Amino acid sequence: MFRRLILLGPPGGGKGTQAGLLAEKYSLYHISTGEVLRRAVREESELGRKVEEILSRGDLVPDELMVDIIKENLTEDRATDGFILDGFPRTVPQAQALKENGVEIDRVLFLDVPRDVLVKRLKGRRECPSCKSIINAESSSVLDDGACPQCGEKLERREDDTEETINKRLEIYFRRTHPLIDFYRQRGLLVDIDGDQNPEMVFQEICDALE
Ligand code: ADP
Ligand code: ZN
Repeated sequence: MFRRLILLGPPGGGKGTQAGLLAEKYSLYHISTGEVLRRAVREESELGRKVEEILSRGDLVPDELMVDIIKENLTEDRATDGFILDGFPRTVPQAQALKENGVEIDRVLFLDVPRDVLVKRLKGRRECPSCKSIINAESSSVLDDGACPQCGEKLERREDDTEETINKRLEIYFRRTHPLIDFYRQRGLLVDIDGDQNPEMVFQEICDALE
């Protein structure tokens, strides 16, 4: 079984959801760089202060900083039995840095979702601050200020899910991250996954590709 994985895909592509499911099923260490950064902001650490502005604008955090973060996470004990990178690499230099640091990758799962679907999902996305559930306001008719269906906590909208920032993140994705598809396809590592179906079916397709 392939256990050193990258989940590649656009904002709103479902990386976080699928990474969570994968981590649970196969006991992989889930490394979400977005979560690492948002936690740093919440905790007002030195890193948090550095990246707060960047995150709220929807820009990318500089490569050097991201490479340091990922190195730190990958040297943790829980990474030795397998990991799933969710949100890294996001640029070609970041992918090259993995290679230069001797990090072997078994499979890169590319979640393919059409742009209009992404915009709709990002606008309707709500998160539970308590149990971290991700809810789509449209599909589950959760209103603003709605309650988490799992635990009842008041749902929140991510600060970077505003209309302006959504467009910017998508634009940056197509310019800086999309080239990674060819990068990994050329290396024979890429698996195309149809991300425009319900999460259970996406997950099934991913599992089939890994076993
Ligand atoms: P999404 O995929 O929905 O945009 P993430 O949680 O993966 O959400 O990332 C949120 C933000 O964190 C990004 O918009 C970016 O500012 C920053 N970020 C996360 N990972 C990286 C990375 N590998 N390189 C640069 N910036 C990153
Ligand atoms: Zn909840």
